[in-house]
Amino acid sequence: MSYYSPSIEKLIEAFEKLPSIGNKTAARLAFYILNSSNEETNEFVEAILNAKKNLKYCSVCYNISDTDPCTICSNSGRDKSLICVVEDVKDVVAMEKTHEFKGVYHVLHGSISPMNGIGPDDIKIKELLARLMEGNVKEVILATNPRVEGEATAIYLSKLIKPLGVTVTRIAHGIPVGGDLEYTDEVTLSKALEGRREI
Ligand SMILES: [Zn+2]
Repeated sequence: MSYYSPSIEKLIEAFEKLPSIGNKTAARLAFYILNSSNEETNEFVEAILNAKKNLKYCSVCYNISDTDPCTICSNSGRDKSLICVVEDVKDVVAMEKTHEFKGVYHVLHGSISPMNGIGPDDIKIKELLARLMEGNVKEVILATNPRVEGEATAIYLSKLIKPLGVTVTRIAHGIPVGGDLEYTDEVTLSKALEGRREI
């Protein structure tokens, strides 16, 4: 049974659904909200609703964005002949933080994982191939995570892309095996990008 009133309990439950929030943290956040001013609470709620309403996927690279195409795809200073393929929107942020990459991205929104029932058609592979068919891309850098699924996805993609006459490279393994691009520091990630090799 709960020691809290039903409305507080409901708020705690809502916070607990967020990633990496346990029961104690959820309770702390709920009480923080209850103790904040109405104005602060409204701002918080509006920020969530606005983000949900305004954000969309870029129809070119599938990055999440306020605009379509996204600011990276619409930037004339970025090299459109170089595409870095990542699993997740958060990986784009990680790569951008290195300030090393001047090309554009393609976000797969996942990796091939037969164990979890995720096949090639469930992620943005057709969309990537459609971009490559346009013929302006010289190199595709596969920057999927160095886990089993990420490696399998990289190999699958490499087999599909090479016959199109596009150079396919894989980022170097400065990133620990089983690691996440998102949590890799900028120096390691820029070294991994620099040390990419053809596959
Ligand atoms: Zn884009």
